[in-house]
Amino acid sequence: MTENIIDNLIKKEHVTVIAGPCAIENWKQLDETAKVVNSLGLSYLRGGAFKPRTSPYSFQGLEEKGLELLKKVGGKYQLKTVTEVTDTINAAIVAEYVDALQVGTRNMSNFALLKKVGEIAFKKKKPVILKRGWASSIKEWLLASEYLNLKGDVEVILCERGIRTFETNTRFTLDLAAIPVIRKLSKLPIIIDPSHAMGQSDLIMPMSRAAIAAGADGLIVETHNDPSNALCDGQQSLDPKEMKELIKQITSLASVIGKKVR
Ligand code: PEP
Ligand code: MN
Repeated sequence: MTENIIDNLIKKEHVTVIAGPCAIENWKQLDETAKVVNSLGLSYLRGGAFKPRTSPYSFQGLEEKGLELLKKVGGKYQLKTVTEVTDTINAAIVAEYVDALQVGTRNMSNFALLKKVGEIAFKKKKPVILKRGWASSIKEWLLASEYLNLKGDVEVILCERGIRTFETNTRFTLDLAAIPVIRKLSKLPIIIDPSHAMGQSDLIMPMSRAAIAAGADGLIVETHNDPSNALCDGQQSLDPKEMKELIKQITSLASVIGKKVR
């Protein structure tokens, strides 16, 4: 589906929850997960096809086959799709398949990629989610976001996904202070990724609630039909029951601030 720039991914009256597996594994996994995402009234399905893994021996993603599955399953459940672009070579291919592009934490300072993604996003009118580099300041993050707009206006959504600190009980340290700071310094929307920040499924709920309370425009959450058998990030992925509970809690919180979850 072609995204119209007017039909922004982020709308002020909504809390937008993008949900789906870390990596696309096969039809059954994505179909069952997307069915849950759709049944919860959400609009965006995430799924990695080109995975930037820390270890070269970990599952690297299904690449273009994964993009095909994402497009098919997204179409089946009328969900818009989000996936990560990892390099300038696959950027144009990725943009053919999905509704929104994601630049990951490891690439926030890959300026050649940002320029390329910005160019493609402008041409194709697709939103770009820019994750914060795990060792980047807010100022560096905001400057990186400007690379996406060099060819023309692109809908850029900032995503705080945790930064590296001395703390080892969580995978990263979720910097929720980034929400009010971004509000002060920029007009860009900001969403929170509690999954990669916390690294453990039982820690996702409280930080999701805190993110919404602090004024985040949305969340990007990893969910899987069968987390214990996931090929990537299963330990931090919500199962269908947990995902349902998350949406229930976020919906009641959102209503307090006059917003709808979608
Ligand atoms: C992801 O969202 O799949 C991902 C790899 O996240 P990050 O870039 O934040 O590690
Ligand atoms: Mn992941």
